[in-house]
Amino acid sequence: MARRPVNPPAEGWSLTIPHRLWTELSAHLFPFGGGAVLLAGHAEGARGPRLLAYDLITATNDTAYIPGEYGHRALAPSFVRDAAVRARDESAAYLAVHAHGGLDRVRFSSVDTASHERGYPALRQITGQTVGGLVFTPHAAAGDLWLADGSRTPLAETVIPGGNLLRLRPCPVTATPAGPGHDRQARLLGDVGQATLNRLRVAVVGLGGVGSILVEELARLGVGTLVLIDDDTVEATNLPRLVAAGKDDIGQLKTDLAARNAQRANPRIRLIPKATRVEHPEALNELALCDWIFLAADSASARHWVNATVQQFLIPGVQVGVKIPVDSAGCVGQIHTATRIMLPGDGCLWCNRLIDSTQLAIDMHPKAERDAARYVPGVPVPSVITLNTLAAAEALNHFVLAATGLHDDDHDHAAVIHRPRTRQRDLQDPRQDANCRWCTPAGRLGRGDSGSVVQTATL
Ligand SMILES: [Zn+2]
Ligand SMILES: [Zn+2]
Repeated sequence: MARRPVNPPAEGWSLTIPHRLWTELSAHLFPFGGGAVLLAGHAEGARGPRLLAYDLITATNDTAYIPGEYGHRALAPSFVRDAAVRARDESAAYLAVHAHGGLDRVRFSSVDTASHERGYPALRQITGQTVGGLVFTPHAAAGDLWLADGSRTPLAETVIPGGNLLRLRPCPVTATPAGPGHDRQARLLGDVGQATLNRLRVAVVGLGGVGSILVEELARLGVGTLVLIDDDTVEATNLPRLVAAGKDDIGQLKTDLAARNAQRANPRIRLIPKATRVEHPEALNELALCDWIFLAADSASARHWVNATVQQFLIPGVQVGVKIPVDSAGCVGQIHTATRIMLPGDGCLWCNRLIDSTQLAIDMHPKAERDAARYVPGVPVPSVITLNTLAAAEALNHFVLAATGLHDDDHDHAAVIHRPRTRQRDLQDPRQDANCRWCTPAGRLGRGDSGSVVQTATL
């Protein structure tokens, strides 16, 4: 298959489609060209408003179509009505989808445009939400959006977060050559790949041993904006594992240390430090604007809130963890590091039993009560920089290759488990509960602002 163009993030309206939905939609659209409607939530984004597709209604049989007046097949009025009523009831955008021939470029025909002008003003009145049309080839997408306020705007890009973080546009973008600082890197990632990293907004949740490595490397890679979330301060026992930390940093906020390191690695980086717990509305609101989230905090509450943000706002992420079992006699068990890809619409951390609800309930209490409720108060868990590095490197490599479209498989989302004592490396596909309230269309998948982050702070 021809190599797909890599496009840096665009300014303006975007649509994100979870990769499972895109797989289903692609099979329906190509090569024979069936019609469909996407239902989408809404959220603000770093570069413009975002539509968040969460469900797909495919036109699967002849009753869904009528012969078009101008030679096209058109969606039948009853199919359109039923989909529009669902969009109204769910406060969702209604996006009619079809395919054209070709590969890297796509545009609406004059027949398409005429049919939008005939039909969309009425549909917009029915739903009270954004309505619009989309046209796809396997590598390109264009959209014509009719907004609830009466205006009309083109869709700048369609984002599909899977094994690769795909961005489809009406035609491929060319980028100016990377600056000399990133010349060697751009020889692998391409100039558009480097430009992509420069425009991404990435969050690191948890700035301890793993998080400090992530921040250092993301800044050196040339990621444009970093959101840094941690409410903790540096302690003497942290120093061997915190990148570029010294004795003078004891007592300082971990966000300050991380910001200083990122700035030194890349003076032009934009930093948004939030010295709060992740469930604080200020942190959640910043998180919901990101293109990618690294979860390097190990508390049940951090896992829960990041998991919820990934699913509700369709933001891909990766959870990084290290487990070192040592019993009271000092016997060391099977050490492992885990790097788990979190994709919207895929088996989430709840589905995979990776959030402990008892621990989560304790985490949601005020600090004094949390400390009192811990079953082993004050016993530090083992932590070693080399193991943190192994997990962080796996997560960072995955991110770089995904953001620049270099993974072989768009659908690979397996977790990577390293067991350094036996030198094994295993892949684990996540499982999904059919009715998960977070990662399925029946739950909060893609609901964006309509299940506002602050509202979701009540479980
Ligand atoms: Zn068309
Ligand atoms: Zn789930």
